[in-house]
Amino acid sequence: MAKRVYWFGGGKADGGAVDVALLGGKGAHLAEMASLGLPVPPGLTITCDCCEEFFRNDRKLCDDLKADVLAGLKAVEQETGRIFGGSESPLLLSVRSGSRASMPGMLDTVLNLGLNDETVQALGHDAGDARFAWDSYRRFIQMYADVVMGLDNEIFEEVLEDEKGRLGRQNDTDLSAVEWQHVVDLYKRLIEDELDESFPQDPHVQLWKAIAAVFSSWHNARAVTYRTLHRIPETWGTAVNVQAMVFGNLGSTSATGVAFTRNPSTGEKALYGEFLANAQGEDVVAGIRTPQSITEEGRLASGSEKPSMEKLMPETFQEFREICERLERHYQDLQDVEFTVERGKLWMLQTRNGKRTTKAAMRVAVDMVEEGLITEEQAVCRIDPPSLDQLLHPTIDPRVERHQIGSGLPASPGAATGEIVFTAEQAVDAEAEGRRVILVRIETSPEDIHGMHAAEAILTTRGGMTSHAAVVARGMGIPCVVGAGSMRVDLRNELLTGVGGVTLKKGDIVTIDGSSGQILKGSVAMQQPELSGDFGKLMTWADKARRMQVRTNADTPQDARSARSFGAEGIGLCRTEHMFFEGERILAMREMILAEDETARRAALEKLLPLQRSDFTELFTIMHGLPVTIRLLDPPLHEFLPKTEAEIDDVARAMGMPPAFLARRIDAIHEFNPMLGHRGCRLAISYPEIAEMQARAIFEAAAEAARETGEPVELEILVPLVSLRAELDYVKGVIDAVAVEVFGETDVKIGYLTGTMIELPRAAIRAHVIAETAEFFSFGTNDLTQTTFGISRDDAATFIPTYQRKGIIEHDPFVSLDFDGVGELIQIAAERGRKTKPDLKMGICGEHGGDPASIHFCENADLDYVSCSPFRVPVARLAAAQAAIAKRNA
Ligand code: PEP
Ligand code: MG
Repeated sequence: MAKRVYWFGGGKADGGAVDVALLGGKGAHLAEMASLGLPVPPGLTITCDCCEEFFRNDRKLCDDLKADVLAGLKAVEQETGRIFGGSESPLLLSVRSGSRASMPGMLDTVLNLGLNDETVQALGHDAGDARFAWDSYRRFIQMYADVVMGLDNEIFEEVLEDEKGRLGRQNDTDLSAVEWQHVVDLYKRLIEDELDESFPQDPHVQLWKAIAAVFSSWHNARAVTYRTLHRIPETWGTAVNVQAMVFGNLGSTSATGVAFTRNPSTGEKALYGEFLANAQGEDVVAGIRTPQSITEEGRLASGSEKPSMEKLMPETFQEFREICERLERHYQDLQDVEFTVERGKLWMLQTRNGKRTTKAAMRVAVDMVEEGLITEEQAVCRIDPPSLDQLLHPTIDPRVERHQIGSGLPASPGAATGEIVFTAEQAVDAEAEGRRVILVRIETSPEDIHGMHAAEAILTTRGGMTSHAAVVARGMGIPCVVGAGSMRVDLRNELLTGVGGVTLKKGDIVTIDGSSGQILKGSVAMQQPELSGDFGKLMTWADKARRMQVRTNADTPQDARSARSFGAEGIGLCRTEHMFFEGERILAMREMILAEDETARRAALEKLLPLQRSDFTELFTIMHGLPVTIRLLDPPLHEFLPKTEAEIDDVARAMGMPPAFLARRIDAIHEFNPMLGHRGCRLAISYPEIAEMQARAIFEAAAEAARETGEPVELEILVPLVSLRAELDYVKGVIDAVAVEVFGETDVKIGYLTGTMIELPRAAIRAHVIAETAEFFSFGTNDLTQTTFGISRDDAATFIPTYQRKGIIEHDPFVSLDFDGVGELIQIAAERGRKTKPDLKMGICGEHGGDPASIHFCENADLDYVSCSPFRVPVARLAAAQAAIAKRNA
């Protein structure tokens, strides 16, 4: 076994290198602060590896470890001049957890260890303060009993409250030494009554049991939940830090506090923190006394009468400020520090990179570049890409209480409040009256699109992250929660039932938090998005650093405009089917689908042509010479079919045929598994006139937009769901023939590429053959994930969360690319495609194109671009930059 225990203190630390994986965050940074010569109480760190060993040994500490700890303690004794368990100058210890990733409050800690009936006397004598010693002893018993012996802290608090009541005392600070001594007796008796054992008097027994308890806390329920939520591996384990105690509760020249080296909510460069005089660390957290501001500026801002640390202990404050500045320079990042002042002597107890809001993260990163502390690329890597959502959408004020009535998958970020409506029509009507609505459906279909546009947010009880509702809402940038399986929608009675039987009716107010997936009853305070100048600067640096292009998935002029404002460099996917649902178009579309023969179909297509052409012209004009990828019609036709009697009557009237006849036609084209049925290029092969109409609309629109803007669009036509080269050959033949016709008619020749979606495993495997025809590849990872796993993308939400909970998969493969399976298919396709055409352009247009981990994968697979919904464009620009930087530095 490698070295188990590392020592630090007195301006030195064992081992030199700071290894967070080995020593945990707290241990590594204590060692680093010690090496920098900062005042750190001496101590030792038991490595994270020992945690694993501890569990392997049936939760026992091995003798070698104990021997190493005792050797380390000798050094601590020498450094402090105190003896652990000594009847004079006793050394007291803190035993703290410290894992590799920060897990605030999840793991256990024991303070004041080493006190017993004898050492408490010596401590009191040493400090010249018996009251302090007995107070420390009762704190120790309380904490030790809770963490090591498993007795609830509250039963001790009850005893203390009773005792204070009996003595007529208000505050803990009002109790005398004798009174605390009596509380200690009461506590010890309580332990005996509850557990039938006495409080251990041997400091070494205390130490071994406390270390074991801290290791064990790695597997307590709250820590396990926290790790699941934050994707922290079980295998990491925690380190344990055993350190000499310093006391902030030794009178008015002592204090304890926490601080950030810059303001963590605004990023402003100003020391920011709180402290309590004459207190131990847990008093600050417990909130019994109101902490005081560290700086005078902070005190004035909070309107507090209580003196700041700056005023109260100016010299110590000055030293503390200098240390903070030094730590920032050293770590080149905002630090979150803990400190204690013991009778005027400052001790640093912890430093780590401070958590901050996205706004603060931006400001700190930009300021640090300007201060010459970090480079532009380092600044780019400081921002967590998904956190940009906080800047682009309204979010729920973090200070408000949430009355949660359900939850689902966080499909589209941001939060919105409104009245519940249950149909698209209700949404449209309410919006027309100026009301804000939340559209609640079991699932949405393309027919709901007008209602989705009218709604502030969308909630569905079914569907996964690539379901219709999720994809469309992300495209529109409105909040959406899908797959809220714990909620019930009763469409007939227009009721929404949440957890605990809370039932809401149409018109009741709910709030949807699309960032967390929570559904809240009523309205809550929101924070509005704010794009500061720092955002612009960071994005410029990100753009300088990245290699891949970032395009957008956009089907409407509104999508295209917002995507351009977010910096999209083209359209990577225009799903033309979404253009067929508005107003009168759906009628013509239904006529086309239900037509009995080619002549009738062509007649209906004639009606659609001008509508498609004008849509494309607008898109091309907005994109002004940037690349635009238009995909031919893809989805199964049943999605467009009339469902209600009234809809069937409408279509029958328009087509001049009896409704019963039409109903039979609808039956005839019914499919058992439409996702794997008559869709994608299969439609263009069965009905080439559809592809002809679309190709004509595209070319005519391109000619018109080029005339209007003077910038010819960089046109790419995309054929969906290809698995055979012959399919692509056939459809390309149709497109090319129309091109020749239109170029002849208009006398304008437009350059274009014809490419294919790679979204079926066969296409990926046969990519070298398909690349003989294809002029570009666009990876459709939604369908590729669906067909590789054989998991329906619309039904995944019913069991994927269970898979995650049971540890069968780590993340939803429809959200973040499955590198091992789907990813390997992408690599195979990219490699084989390039073998045939070395310069073959390749991008990704599935929902993964906006997911940072998947974007890293695309960088490593050498794709040329990623394409994502408009509101994810900034996230993708940043993630693509980070991926490029990481690859360069690898
Ligand atoms: C895909 O399958 O990844 C894709 C982009 O197409 P769609 O989501 O429209 O099926
Ligand atoms: Mg697809």
